[in-house]
Amino acid sequence: MVFDRNRRIFIKHKICRFCADPSLRIDYKEPNMLAGFTSERGKMIPRRISGNCARHQRILALAIKRARNIALLPFTTAKIKMKEYREF
Ligand SMILES: [Zn+2]
Repeated sequence: MVFDRNRRIFIKHKICRFCADPSLRIDYKEPNMLAGFTSERGKMIPRRISGNCARHQRILALAIKRARNIALLPFTTAKIKMKEYREF
């Protein structure tokens, strides 16, 4: 259940897109597809937001980690605010 600005209640139907479409494969060699499940900072999108099922989220997490390890996906982005630097 999600509240929008006007306080209306609507139920967002989240469906695992990998279950819905069995032809979709989770492959660590496809960074463009995996990037859709990471934030701008390179973090994985949690299951509660992406709507993936537990099984596919696990497979996806492994694929993202593999892609990171062979530099197809970033672990993090280098764009850090200068404010963060000053604290050290
Ligand atoms: Zn699924």
